Amino acid sequence: MTGPLVLYAGRGDAWPRYRDLLGEALAAHGVAARVTDRATHAQDVDYIVYAPNGPITDFRPFTRAKAVLSLWAGVEKVVDNPTLTQPLCRLVDPGLTQAMAEWVCAHVLRHHLDTDRFVTGQDGVWRDDFVPPLAGERRVGILGMGVLGQAAARALAGLGFRISGWSRTAKTRPGFDIAHGTDGLRRILEHSEILVLLLPATPETHHLLNARTLAQTRRGAVIVNPGRGTLIDDAALLAALDGGHVAHATLDVFAREPLPVDHPFWAHPRVTVTPHIAAATRPETAAQAIAENIARAQTGQPLLNRVDRDRGY
Ligand code: NAP
Repeated sequence: MTGPLVLYAGRGDAWPRYRDLLGEALAAHGVAARVTDRATHAQDVDYIVYAPNGPITDFRPFTRAKAVLSLWAGVEKVVDNPTLTQPLCRLVDPGLTQAMAEWVCAHVLRHHLDTDRFVTGQDGVWRDDFVPPLAGERRVGILGMGVLGQAAARALAGLGFRISGWSRTAKTRPGFDIAHGTDGLRRILEHSEILVLLLPATPETHHLLNARTLAQTRRGAVIVNPGRGTLIDDAALLAALDGGHVAHATLDVFAREPLPVDHPFWAHPRVTVTPHIAAATRPETAAQAIAENIARAQTGQPLLNRVDRDRGY
């Protein structure tokens, strides 16, 4: 009997690495799969390893596929695809999680310590009169306490920061104060000096930060967004920055990517743009996570990290 047919449908240039890594990871999980980037007959495919920048837009021909396994954590580009009837799983992988925790810590620490003051101040002036508060005196809010939000929270808490989180449903995690609902959001906005956005892009989270909610943020707050660009109303953020209510925005993700060259964020003195690099998918760890999920499905266990299509994440 032949093993399952796994179709790689991600970025073409990453195929050679995934071919080797997926093959090895599946074998290590005891799955004798055939991994290909080109299926002669779509109806023979058992699993689709998918990315939005790959070739598949129509899932209907894949009548036998048991799962579509996303190489991205965010699934907003595929979750509404009406041709998708197969179970969809988002990527949860230790490499991605670690990368996000590192990126968030780096940018929170930059603002916490006002590192720019010294990095850009190499002018012969000895500025030794600046003493930042210790992390324990700094309140950081994290909107989105899922896999990545919690990893960022743990890393920041390890440095001593005071963390508050916000999620859709009520939850408790030792060491963190996690709120939900509109009142919970307002409280976090009011007290956070640094606000980290790690929510998915869904209809509910669209422009969560808008003129009204930005006005609820603490004066002088810094916004750090590695979540999704649609979480923020750009015009409202620019107004809040120009009016001095928001001190700085560090943005990794944008409503339109690549961020258009004439977008005001690029030239704004209090905006830092990074090109959606907070947590890239590393084939080495992603292949392991995908192989584990295929191995589970092959042995009749439920798939991990299934997306709830109605919820949108
Ligand atoms: P996740 O585990 O699904 O967590 C999502 C969190 O957001 C959960 O805590 C969820 O609440 C909360 N949430 C969702 N809708 C909400 C709403 N309407 N109101 C309040 N809270 C809401 O996702 P993840 O793995 O942490 O990833 C988060 C996002 O990071 C991804 O969706 C993606 O957009 C982004 N991302 C960015 C990069 C990058 O390089 N910049 C890389 C990877 C991921 P519950 O806990 O109650 O469900």
